[in-house]
Amino acid sequence: MKYLSTRGQPERKRFCEILLEGLAPDGGLYLPESYPQVDDATLARWRDVYHRQGYAELAFEILSLYIDDIPVADLRALCVKTYTAEVFGTGEIVPLRHLQDDVWLEGLSNGPTLAFKDMAMQLLGNLFEYELARRSEQLNILGATSGDTGGAAEYAMRGKKGVRVFMTSPHGRMSPFQQAQMFSLQDANIYNIAIEGVFDDCQDIVKAVSNDLEFKRKYKIGTVNSINWARLLAQVVYYFAGYIQATESNCQQVSFAVPSGNFGNVCAGHVARMMGLPIAQLVVATNENDVLDEFFRTGVYRVRGTADTFETSSPSMDISKASNFERFVFDLLGRDGARTKALFADALAREGQFDLSADPAFAQARERYGFVSGKSTHADRLATIRSTWQQHEVMIDTHTADALKVALERRVAGVPMVVLETALPVKFAETIVEALGRTPMRPVRFEGIESLPKRVRVMPADAAAVKALISAECGA
Ligand SMILES: *Cc1c(COP(=O)(O)O)cnc(C)c1O
Repeated sequence: MKYLSTRGQPERKRFCEILLEGLAPDGGLYLPESYPQVDDATLARWRDVYHRQGYAELAFEILSLYIDDIPVADLRALCVKTYTAEVFGTGEIVPLRHLQDDVWLEGLSNGPTLAFKDMAMQLLGNLFEYELARRSEQLNILGATSGDTGGAAEYAMRGKKGVRVFMTSPHGRMSPFQQAQMFSLQDANIYNIAIEGVFDDCQDIVKAVSNDLEFKRKYKIGTVNSINWARLLAQVVYYFAGYIQATESNCQQVSFAVPSGNFGNVCAGHVARMMGLPIAQLVVATNENDVLDEFFRTGVYRVRGTADTFETSSPSMDISKASNFERFVFDLLGRDGARTKALFADALAREGQFDLSADPAFAQARERYGFVSGKSTHADRLATIRSTWQQHEVMIDTHTADALKVALERRVAGVPMVVLETALPVKFAETIVEALGRTPMRPVRFEGIESLPKRVRVMPADAAAVKALISAECGA
């Protein structure tokens, strides 16, 4: 399997080459040259594999179609080590719960940080450790977080050989639970840096350090953001696992409703569908930051400025642009790299938007690729959290509520609708109290984490200070 860039550069790469890379050199995103096709016999076999041998073995089956530069036994061992009941709380790893009629909840948020990013990041941690050891290399991950991503990255990389994580976050602005999750990590390779500023200051620091190419090369600075193909690939697996749990035979179709921000999660659903998984609709749900809903309704993709990017009660979906969206547009345009480049590199830079409404390809987004969309407001989320609790005694978080609200509008009789649960309510306790007048339950392993000793250093919003810390810790 070789990988190409969405912007048309001729060069092809193998999996382990792009594993530690971010964007392709031409600024595009990596995709496989073609999507391996899963026929009925294979899907039937995978159904059996999932039921008899479990999620890790299913993950191995799917990953091995895309990764041919890691020996089979090693890849299997990496999957087995990653997807354990111990780390993900249940033997099913992504348990399906029935809600009502044809509506199901697939639990993707039982990992170490109680958000679905663990599903991919835990695998990434093991893949990084494996590949870095093979190359005798080190990697210093530098990131900025306002919550979920940073925590998931730290829990995935803690104690991993060859990797250090330097994670900046805005001082005092994360929820107490998220701060406790991250800052209580005592691992020597995890550095929490609370920046005296806001999230944008943290991002600016990461950019400033990464733009210093000499520093970046000398200290092997890398990232773990959501455009990484390995993260997306890991997410493909739970679409298969959700489908297998929601159906009894392969002649049935299923739809998925996905709370979306950077389009990483639902893009993995698109890949699963392209492989032949019988998915009827991919329902893209957004909050008030509705860049994606606008595109699927109108054909116009319009990046938002800071002034129209809102802070909402589903903060992990508060985006101004969707960094994985280019992957889908590339497929939608018949894999035309030159056109994709003209839209994403030229039109977006020039006008901040592009318009496909008059292009015949746009109708295909729904007709051929199964995409539909919708959005929710804060009031919708409160109402959905409330009705789900009252009718089913199931407590859902604000992101899952976005998806469930839209799923109920979009469902088609007779087609199971699987709503992806992307976080547990305890992470967003304030809104749960607003909706239900009670605090969410907390998994036992998180009891009292706010009072654990914290390992964090507070620093000014100054890239030079962060660079000094990195070079001091790397012993040069
Ligand atoms: C990251 C995140 C999302 C959005 O996922 P994308 O892959 O960015 O579309 C939704 N819900 C939660 C809880 C998240 O952490």
